[in-house]
Amino acid sequence: MKTVVVIGGGASGMAAALTAAEKKENTVILLERQSRVGRKLLATGNGRCNLTNTGAAIKNYHGESVSFAQKALDAFSPAEAISWFRALGLVTVEQYGGRVFPLSDSAGSVLDVLRFALDAAGVDVRPGEPATRLLSRGGRLSVVTEKASYRADAVIVACGGKAGGKLGGVTDGYELLTSLGHHCTPLYPALVPIKTDTDYPRSLKGVRAEAALKLFRGDELLKETRGELQFTEKGVSGPAAFDLSREAAVKGGELVLDLLPCLSEEETISMLRRRQKLSPELENGSVFAGLLHSRLGMVVVRASGVRPSDNIGGLSGRDLAVLAQTAKAFRLRVMGTDSFDNAQVTAGGIRTEEFNPDTLESRLVPGVFACGEVLDLDGDCGGYNLQWAWASGRLAGRLGI
Ligand SMILES: Cc1cc2nc3c(=O)[nH]c(=O)nc-3n(C[C@H](O)[C@H](O)[C@H](O)COP(=O)(O)OP(=O)(O)OC[C@H]3O[C@@H](n4cnc5c(N)ncnc54)[C@H](O)[C@@H]3O)c2cc1C
Repeated sequence: MKTVVVIGGGASGMAAALTAAEKKENTVILLERQSRVGRKLLATGNGRCNLTNTGAAIKNYHGESVSFAQKALDAFSPAEAISWFRALGLVTVEQYGGRVFPLSDSAGSVLDVLRFALDAAGVDVRPGEPATRLLSRGGRLSVVTEKASYRADAVIVACGGKAGGKLGGVTDGYELLTSLGHHCTPLYPALVPIKTDTDYPRSLKGVRAEAALKLFRGDELLKETRGELQFTEKGVSGPAAFDLSREAAVKGGELVLDLLPCLSEEETISMLRRRQKLSPELENGSVFAGLLHSRLGMVVVRASGVRPSDNIGGLSGRDLAVLAQTAKAFRLRVMGTDSFDNAQVTAGGIRTEEFNPDTLESRLVPGVFACGEVLDLDGDCGGYNLQWAWASGRLAGRLGI
């Protein structure tokens, strides 16, 4: 009989506990800090839970030693995640970009099937009981809470990261593991709104656009992406901004937005000419009518130096070219990112080289395993982080067997 203590009842911890409980000789205790398991899971995907991505591959992940994740991801592919959930009674649907959601469109369904499975498997779930210490003495492991001290043959640390503070993101996992001699890399918020320096986003608050984004540091292109962008009071948000947020948090730089990615510069000029022909009496502020959100169009006109209150009919060929260039290379200086509270994941974490990638067992303290976001591994926006949580939870839950 083996006692397995899983610390953290989030995505990876529930997957690990269920896997460990598949071996009938294991007694599995799942400690959860909050009053219920899976609180963060309920908030994922805007309440819809984008639980995996059919295209998930190592290129979608980041960390100091990203190849570490290969074994876990190979051992539990997105297809296997979908079948595993189906076996638990959850039907899923694939949507744009390989994103997979529950058919019910509700994260609650994902949590329900996991909770019911934990019950059925006889996992001893203990909500409201945070682990405060993890001890290894003379080869014996114990986990201490305010209520009890548990002797364990194996401990799986699945405490998640610092992101999403209001949903339970804490630093406990880093502290428990560093207390045993593990090391933590610097931590940054990722998949988080980017703060920019200009007044424009404030006047654009709430405006959405389909844009192509490039992040530069000097002349160096750090990363580029394309997708939905949302302007906020402090900068930019939405999936496209999230994609660049990891680099923006670590390296800063300047964002260059192509607000009309489906038109070339020449095509943009020709559409502006058409507007000039159709509505010469309108003010310049409306020259992007039919191309951009009206507030965004006005901001681009201002940024290009053209007087918004003059008539479109008076714009020169050069003016039209400058307007088109501004819309296709709209610049915003990065001033940092929003805080961990508003981030979806933590970039950085416990050094992966201190764990065996085949088993996720600590190389420093035998019997201690780690999975999920507590490790220095984070994924892109689109279901990749939960895929890592399930895959690493499944591998850790096998306890090296
Ligand atoms: C708003 C939001 C939306 C997101 N949307 C998506 C999405 O759609 N798709 C996607 O792939 N990813 C998404 N993510 C990221 C994803 O939720 C995380 O990467 C994933 O939940 C990490 O799983 P985990 O098990 O490592 O950590 P968590 O799910 O955070 O679970 C960790 C658990 O450990 C508990 N805990 C912490 N310390 C202790 C302790 N000392 N003792 C006991 N318990 C403890 C916590 O309370 C928590 O329940 C989103 C994140 C946020 C914040």
